[in-house]
Amino acid sequence: MGYKLSFGEADRIFDSLQKEYEIWAPKRFVGKGRYSDTDMIRYDKIHRADEIEFNEKSDFPAKEVLTPITETLFYFTEDEYRESKATKKKLLIFMRPCDVHAKYHQEKIYLENGDFADSYYQRMSEKVKIVLMECGEGWDTCFCVSMGTNRTDDYAAAVRAEDEAMFLEIKDEELAPYFQKCASARFTPSFVEENPLQVTVPEIPNKEVLTELKRHPMWDEFDKRCVSCGACTLACSTCTCFTTSDIVYQENSNAGERKRTSASCQIEGFTDMAGGIVFRNTAGERMRYKVLHKFHDYKARFRDFHMCVGCGRCISRCPELISIAATVDKMAAAVDEITASQKAEGGK
Ligand code: SF4
Ligand code: SF4
Repeated sequence: MGYKLSFGEADRIFDSLQKEYEIWAPKRFVGKGRYSDTDMIRYDKIHRADEIEFNEKSDFPAKEVLTPITETLFYFTEDEYRESKATKKKLLIFMRPCDVHAKYHQEKIYLENGDFADSYYQRMSEKVKIVLMECGEGWDTCFCVSMGTNRTDDYAAAVRAEDEAMFLEIKDEELAPYFQKCASARFTPSFVEENPLQVTVPEIPNKEVLTELKRHPMWDEFDKRCVSCGACTLACSTCTCFTTSDIVYQENSNAGERKRTSASCQIEGFTDMAGGIVFRNTAGERMRYKVLHKFHDYKARFRDFHMCVGCGRCISRCPELISIAATVDKMAAAVDEITASQKAEGGK
């Protein structure tokens, strides 16, 4: 069913919904951007329709609702522990199509990668209902069409905001009663069909080409350009790496809490192991790892899609203006070069 409601009507419905749901959406934090006089847009609990930022892409992805940058896993004393509590309410999350696809990748990593599911992710994921936010024309760093993530039908409701009103499609039976008194209106979301930014992800034909690609000089440029800050992975819709640490309370050093905090493969020390072993010493090696993970290794492991959803958030966040889209294009050229050289070698 489709509806049109004013922001005032939406606020009244949000009031009712909040007895059962936490409502999360991208919200503008004025003056909190990383440059002076700039804003930051990130996910937060909202209570009113005018708190939702409909017109710009968020700087940080929807994944932060389910996996915050830092969270407590459990509390411990000398001889016992207690798991942290998750919210009792269901979660209504406003998401763009790329975030919906990113959730699919997160589920693969947290719930289906190995013999056990991550219970902390699972307890949140089970509560989610998605409100799909229409993107209009998209933004200058998006390349969702190239990655096939511009469309989805996996949502409980879809929304377009126009002139202080919302057009909604409600698919979910549990949500429908909240809207039954609203004016009917025809609405189904439209999707971005073309981005200004396009990316050609190369097919890496065999292991020999992959090995040569790892040795290719294209990665060396990042030794100079990338400052290994990790901003790209923190903003990434699909990165899942985290580290754990114990916070010990001052009053009783046998009591404390274990936290997990997002980690970045782009930061020096990420691969440090006991015995002084380090797998990726340079920024170029770390960039190579990230790019191949997003555009080759994940798909080789799960045999469905590339991990990157083309949200472009890493491009927007990088202080050194490093574009993953341009890097993938360079990788495509390098794969062509290596393949041609192997063919020439084979023909000799
Ligand atoms: S690698 Fe960049 S474009 Fe791809 S999902 Fe992550 S943040 Fe988005
Ligand atoms: S690519 Fe950019 S954002 Fe990512 S670690 Fe390097 S400098 Fe930082």
